[in-house]
Amino acid sequence: MAHLVEPPHQVSLADYESIAQLSSAVRELRQEAESLLPVLDGHRVWMVNSTSQGGGVAELLPPLLSLMRELGVDANWLVMESDDPAFFRLTKRLHNLIHGQRDANLGAADRELYGQVSSDTAEMIARHISPGDVLVVHDPQPMGAGAMLRKKMDIEAIWRCHIGLDRETPETRAAWAFLDEYGSAYDHAVFTAPEYIPGCLAGRATIIHPAIDPLSHKNRELSVHKLVGILAAGALIAAPGPMPTPPFPQLAERLQRDETWAPATEPEDIGLLHRPIVTQISRWDRLKGFLPLMQGFAILKRELRQKSNLDEDHRRSLQLARLILAGPDPASIEDDPEGKEVLAELRKAYAGLEPDLQDDIAIILLPMSSAKHNALLVNALQRCSDIVAQNSLQEGFGLTATEAMWKHAAIMGSQAAGLRQQIRPGLDGCLVANPEDPREIAATLDDLLRDPGKREMLGRSAQQRVHDEFLVFTQVRRWLVLIANAIKTHWPSTGDPIRHPSTFFRNAPRGET
Ligand code: UDP
Repeated sequence: MAHLVEPPHQVSLADYESIAQLSSAVRELRQEAESLLPVLDGHRVWMVNSTSQGGGVAELLPPLLSLMRELGVDANWLVMESDDPAFFRLTKRLHNLIHGQRDANLGAADRELYGQVSSDTAEMIARHISPGDVLVVHDPQPMGAGAMLRKKMDIEAIWRCHIGLDRETPETRAAWAFLDEYGSAYDHAVFTAPEYIPGCLAGRATIIHPAIDPLSHKNRELSVHKLVGILAAGALIAAPGPMPTPPFPQLAERLQRDETWAPATEPEDIGLLHRPIVTQISRWDRLKGFLPLMQGFAILKRELRQKSNLDEDHRRSLQLARLILAGPDPASIEDDPEGKEVLAELRKAYAGLEPDLQDDIAIILLPMSSAKHNALLVNALQRCSDIVAQNSLQEGFGLTATEAMWKHAAIMGSQAAGLRQQIRPGLDGCLVANPEDPREIAATLDDLLRDPGKREMLGRSAQQRVHDEFLVFTQVRRWLVLIANAIKTHWPSTGDPIRHPSTFFRNAPRGET
């Protein structure tokens, strides 16, 4: 099955344009769109994915679609459905394999299941689309359906892959071998990083980076009063006096010395508003490198006790610095046993720290019951941080880094492929060579904590980089250019597609579409 979704109403281009810092980006987008619209005229664009709610792709599509529409593109959203849970188990396996994980054994039954559901989905999508349309298919779930449609209709088909691993393994080879017959039908593929392009799609692939929305709750500017209000409402600071807004129904919690959780104002104020703060916010995933980051911070603090030759500012900065490790509250990761395991490991490591180190490290659970409150707390925490760490062993892109760069934090990232796309080392942040080496982490943090001028310089450049490359406007521009070029190549002279009856799929026997 496939159904049409109306993207929820988003802020308009005029809203972005009214913000001084964003107006030039919106102007450039409008100019680019104006020059490309004649090519796009008469061609509908269809984004196809597998869910309208939950997950990164479902979050990314509404702003993309609504900005395209406002610019005059006939952009639409189709969501595929299948009532066969085995299909989604299979596509989850493919997802894991593309990340290099789990069992690489895909058999004939898997092929048959994937082919069958793809064929049914293609039939449903065919009821909406016509020759001359451009189909943009996201991730492996609807990939087969898009390929089948491309073979039967005169449409342009682009596959957008949001996942990838920067090396080949038996697992990635198995996934790409499985998907190859479908991938080969597409005119173009789009990836997040060049390292993720598999051999079978090389030569037809383009890079479009993920992007952030500067007016979303996670990224919008916060006045001092708002910032303090959010931190107090979420219990990340104690209310400094009477507050105009009440506390959030669910509060941020901090791991206590006795291994219980209590509101994050306990046992004492963390110092977010006045101390040097190093923060990492991520899912509780081993690949995010929380544990070595905590060990690195501990080394930095322990070594301070032995150092006698530091200048006074440097010493005070290291003495006062605190580390925040924040992630989603465990109730929201009920179906994520690995998340629970990683959190348990961190709890154990925290319990083994000296008491003064326990004071200087805050392991925080952020409330997840309200997406808005969660986003505002992430925003406020990033804005209170002098250094934002993303110590990932692997990272698809790393939106947490993009978000913090936009807020001009000094970033300490790693060499993970997604972070390398964003951070030019020494210019927009620092990259540790080995995120599992606490000594290197300690040295990098020391260097950043010693030098406020360097942090300032890195932060400014980071914000400019996000402005130029990773805001939603750049993303829309890249899509418009890609789609316009694809149309010009596909229908070079007249721009006229070859018309097939749009009922083509309706009567096609099962499995033959
Ligand atoms: N995030 C959040 N609350 C949390 C932890 C993470 O909102 O408690 C958000 C974070 O701000 C970012 C996203 O989750 O927007 C994570 O995306 P990223 O690309 O960094 O990593 P992924 O989780 O997709 O591997």
